[in-house]
Amino acid sequence: MLKALIFDVDGTLAETEEVHRAAFNAAFADAGLEWQWDRELYGYLLRVTGGKERIAHYIDTVLRKPRNADTNDMIALLHRRKTAIYADMIAAGQIELRPGIMALIDAALSTGVRLAIATTTSRPNVDALLAATLSGRGAPFEVIVAGDEVPAKKPAPDVYLEALKLLGLDARSCLALEDSANGVRSSCAAGIPVLVTKGMYTVSDNFDGAITVLDDLGSLAERAAPSEVGSAILDSVRAHHETANARSIHQFTF
Ligand SMILES: [Mg+2]
Repeated sequence: MLKALIFDVDGTLAETEEVHRAAFNAAFADAGLEWQWDRELYGYLLRVTGGKERIAHYIDTVLRKPRNADTNDMIALLHRRKTAIYADMIAAGQIELRPGIMALIDAALSTGVRLAIATTTSRPNVDALLAATLSGRGAPFEVIVAGDEVPAKKPAPDVYLEALKLLGLDARSCLALEDSANGVRSSCAAGIPVLVTKGMYTVSDNFDGAITVLDDLGSLAERAAPSEVGSAILDSVRAHHETANARSIHQFTF
């Protein structure tokens, strides 16, 4: 039985990557650097999870410059500035939740399905997004595990394993929602069935291991009346979850 939904943040709750990219570029300009990340380059850099790691990857593989202790200090400063700029952009309302997300959250809360977040983004980014998009709903996510709070980021399973521990639930009673190959690998490594909604930067990712791949959650409720959208999405999500668990038990038994 489905007891909890565990959400990725960037690309899953909202298409935040374009805001992240703009915030990185603004932080570089503030620092007097002539670095400019266009969409194509950012798509490449997104293979690496975590903002500081992404800047380091850019220096290593695009600029091809050696890094030392000073470089790593600069990366930390740039990332701090980028995080502040990102929070300002989000607070200014430059983002909205993806289709069906709010309806699913409301339906889950009203039927006792618990909600959690397992993300590689840093905690201030999560807080900024939730404050801007969930005002008036209190704190629907009872567990939030962010990238800097565990030893290894996705595709390692750490964030998901920590979320399971804090929820006190086993992997099979939860469902992960992801938008990227790294996210699918992470949740699968933690043993959690995963449903994918493809993101702007992840349409051509390899989602092997996911129980289903959708354009967005709204596609699960196309024929539902407006007031029934949340329950239609939740019913469909539950059905996918049950099918996935039945399949894995079948494979295990025979
Ligand atoms: Mg994501």
